[in-house]
Amino acid sequence: MDIFNMTALQIGQKIKNKEISSVEVIKYFFNNITNKSNGYITFTEDYAIKRAKKIQEKIDKKEDLSILAGVPISIKDNICTKGIRTTCASKMLKDFIPSYNATAFKKLEDAGAILVGKINMDEFAMGDTGRTSFFGGCNNPWDITKSTGGSSSGCASSIAYNEAILTLGSDTGGSIRQPSAFCSVTGIKPTYGLVSRYGLIAFAPQFDQIGPITKDALDCAKTLEIISGYDKNDNTTIKKEKFSFIDENFNIKGLKIGVCKNFIEYSDKDVQTEILKAVNILKNLGAIIEEINLDVIQYSMPTYQILSSAQSISNMARYDGIKYGYKPENIDCLEELTIKSRTDAFGVEVKKRIMFGNFVLKDDKNNYYKNAINAKNYITKQFKEAFEKYDILLAPTTPKTAASFDDNTETDIFLASSNLTGLPSISIPCGFTKNNMPVGMQLISNYLKDDIILNISIQFQKNTSFHLKRPNIK
Ligand code: GLN
Repeated sequence: MDIFNMTALQIGQKIKNKEISSVEVIKYFFNNITNKSNGYITFTEDYAIKRAKKIQEKIDKKEDLSILAGVPISIKDNICTKGIRTTCASKMLKDFIPSYNATAFKKLEDAGAILVGKINMDEFAMGDTGRTSFFGGCNNPWDITKSTGGSSSGCASSIAYNEAILTLGSDTGGSIRQPSAFCSVTGIKPTYGLVSRYGLIAFAPQFDQIGPITKDALDCAKTLEIISGYDKNDNTTIKKEKFSFIDENFNIKGLKIGVCKNFIEYSDKDVQTEILKAVNILKNLGAIIEEINLDVIQYSMPTYQILSSAQSISNMARYDGIKYGYKPENIDCLEELTIKSRTDAFGVEVKKRIMFGNFVLKDDKNNYYKNAINAKNYITKQFKEAFEKYDILLAPTTPKTAASFDDNTETDIFLASSNLTGLPSISIPCGFTKNNMPVGMQLISNYLKDDIILNISIQFQKNTSFHLKRPNIK
């Protein structure tokens, strides 16, 4: 039984049916894992085997556990795991061992899932290629000369390589969805506040959200049911304990889909072709398709860059070599300690964001921050009006397939607006170009309507096989 070829729910079902034990699953994982993706920073073998034994005892005693009981999961390395190194892919935190668990991870553990490793990413989640990691970039199995996307690079890459079953990523401006599209996996950024950010190492807290990256939409939906809900440790969580998303009887028929015409026109021809084919599939399933032009493309990236960098600086300020992080040796005074710690241990991208964030907040001639807030409100209004007409909006996830490393295209240009507005957005595989590169389709729904995009994705995947196609790995 090759568990790497199965979804989390399929493995969970087999464990439940006693066709395989949780310990066998975890041992199989560690006997066969290769890390060709470079998706893992840390493996947690001893921890996982001990836990698998405990979970199996509970299963044998017929304790009430979730369908994910005994299933191996991996977590992006900016999500705190008690007693297990959490690096943010930075030299700054390369030896940081958290003393507590992030709520989203704790909920998965309480459901019986088993942590097998911590996942590689862009340093402090800043980047869109995975290459800003202190631990080296991840590989894209569809074409190793191309980017995996980022910052949840290792989540998407390890799943595409069949080296992970279910992962948690984070998305501040596209970091779950863009690598999902580049690697042909499924990833959702939930409505802001649906999943607790407690224990997620902050980048820009007004936009940061944890979300699953998985092999299919059903795994995504199930995982989100487990990790969502109110958390007293995060005041921005929505005050509702439990959410359910999966609707077995969901019907696409009659749903009104606004297809973002100007997003499609902005994209490469081969992306356009695959997206239009996917739109046709949804039309054949009964959706009502109309075109819409959203006037946000030119505003979303600059707005996101100003607001996210401005927020990031106070979060990055805590890394001073005293409370947290890398401590250089042979230091004479406090000031030297802070300067040297930050100079040595932050990568170039992080330093750029700190400088840019300070600049936009300090400059009082150009009103960058105030203008960005106005632009954010304008974008929010555009989406609000769109959802008065449509159940969901549809667009390419990215304007091109996985980019070369020297390509400076802003490939998350269609994504940051969902972070600015707090709206849920999913990326699912929807086709392949002539060069066999995956294309991702983005579905956005209204605030707290995560169930709609999840159920459409589940239905789309029942009727297509793009999500099942795997790359040729040499
Ligand atoms: N690529 C974007 C950035 O570098 C988004 C990152 C993210 O979502 N964490 O800021």
